Amino acid sequence: MITSKTNAKAGRVVLSIPKTIWMGSMFLLTLVGGWYTFSFSTFAVFAVTTVISLCLGHSIGMHRRLIHKSYQCPIWLEYLFVHLGVIVGLAGPIGMIKTHDMRDWAQRQSDCHDYFGHKQPMWKDFIWQIFCDVRLKHSPSFNIEKSVSNDRFYNWMEATWMLQQLPLAVLLFTLGGLEWVIWGVCVRVSISVLGHWMIGYFAHNHGARDWHVENANVQGHNVPFAALLTMGESYHNNHHAFPGSANLGLEKGQIDIGWLVLKGLAKLGLVWDLVLPEHLPERDELKRL
Ligand SMILES: [Zn+2]
Ligand SMILES: [Zn+2]
Repeated sequence: MITSKTNAKAGRVVLSIPKTIWMGSMFLLTLVGGWYTFSFSTFAVFAVTTVISLCLGHSIGMHRRLIHKSYQCPIWLEYLFVHLGVIVGLAGPIGMIKTHDMRDWAQRQSDCHDYFGHKQPMWKDFIWQIFCDVRLKHSPSFNIEKSVSNDRFYNWMEATWMLQQLPLAVLLFTLGGLEWVIWGVCVRVSISVLGHWMIGYFAHNHGARDWHVENANVQGHNVPFAALLTMGESYHNNHHAFPGSANLGLEKGQIDIGWLVLKGLAKLGLVWDLVLPEHLPERDELKRL
């Protein structure tokens, strides 16, 4: 909700105590615990849990379904995928929608705070994005859709998002002991959050573009070298052009694993009504380069 005073630029970056404690402890446990418990099995646990939580959770559940509604699915599957997205360790479902939509809105204005556009040098952007929040002087008010704000399960997930690691942690502890917990939770969260920030930094600063959004002060760029690791999310220029599209790898040769998984789930009848660019309303401000 925007008023005549709303402004995406004026504001300051403040240290976030919860973020600092959360990520500080994850990094510390990774550096100390990860070193002493490294083995073939712990690395395999890290790899499997990372791929599942990033693909089904962050990309397909949180981003393409909860935030952009780019396909339909049964509510139990949405809850499962969003839970897997929450355990990536960035935020709860409501926090993720808010962070995503604020950044998206700010980038489409004629100017915005450097925090939203990743405009500062990498070392400073790292400290800002991982340990801090931005407080705008005249922020838009954030009114989340009723289907999420009235949902008791999402409110519970939001209130307990850090504790959502517990079911997985208990499972890993039972199967492989403390070292599996270190690699399947702490190392995974550290690497996922670091990777999320780093790709976000590149995807708003460097890389090829096929589309230009006029009057937006920040453009999205494609980062092909990260396409496989990010489940297709790094085709970020496509995403700025067609935010509601379930497919992010739009050009020939752009492999979007998230989209391939969605097509597989559609064959099984678990998801349907997948949105493509041609289903979206035309945008006057969108220009092909
Ligand atoms: Zn973006
Ligand atoms: Zn998005």
